[in-house]
Amino acid sequence: MKIEWAFYQNGDETEEVFYEYLDKDLYESKYQEHLYCISAECNAMIKFTHRKNGVKFFSTWNGQGDLHDTECPYYLQNKGDVERNKILGLIESAPITDEHIINTILNKSKNLKTKEKKKVPNRRLTTRRTLQGEQSSKPEVIDNGNINEKGSSQIKIFSLDSKHITPDYVGYRKCVFGKIRHVYFNETDDYVYLNLDNDQYKVSVYLPHAFYADPEKTTKSALETFLRIVKHDLRANNELIIICVGMIRFKGNQQGVNVHVINPSHLLINDAKYYEIITNNSIPQNPYNY
Ligand SMILES: [Zn+2]
Repeated sequence: MKIEWAFYQNGDETEEVFYEYLDKDLYESKYQEHLYCISAECNAMIKFTHRKNGVKFFSTWNGQGDLHDTECPYYLQNKGDVERNKILGLIESAPITDEHIINTILNKSKNLKTKEKKKVPNRRLTTRRTLQGEQSSKPEVIDNGNINEKGSSQIKIFSLDSKHITPDYVGYRKCVFGKIRHVYFNETDDYVYLNLDNDQYKVSVYLPHAFYADPEKTTKSALETFLRIVKHDLRANNELIIICVGMIRFKGNQQGVNVHVINPSHLLINDAKYYEIITNNSIPQNPYNY
């Protein structure tokens, strides 16, 4: 595991920092003791090392490993295989309702509309959570500042900008958001890729055959219409921001990662739902401060 991104926070000044962008002098003059885990849920501080041989890396500040949220891959960095498999197993098998996923996506969409250009996570408000989700009904602050509804699943699905996805997130379920760059429909093998913005890795929203296998949810012909509209808007330079929830997995050839979206209700583009896009035969303009 290699931490590639960190979040710089110093008063009102904030920035997402890629490790290769730093060097020793720049780090010591500005960033030292102001870098945090890129996940807004984590309170862990990040430190930068630049060795004499040129090797650069981020690591968690000594003794702060447990300040990563349990759903952050770097929480597991110094844990053994047993702990790792247990946590990943819990994420995989967690009971998550469609309603909970839809609420997560809608909350994220609302949040992206109102948020300032730069996110300023209020780390003092966050507390580390246990994976099984507190079963208590007491309302909690979740990543987008909304209160979880009573009765809804208490398992939190945290959001992740597609730009910050690395293979370390494989095995986690996330609410991923990002710009769509390209659409690819493989009709022979029955799957769709919506490629997202990321400078280091191939990151795609992956719609497997299961996405349109149940005619009660959608059909191949509806999906084709949806994709035609998305392609048209990309060509017309409409900036398309997708928000979706799915498990992150390696691509078949290990070259990059996919976000597996298995239900048309688990995605929004520019705040429009799948069937709204098909019915209106268009996608709204980007409504977000993103
Ligand atoms: Zn973290």
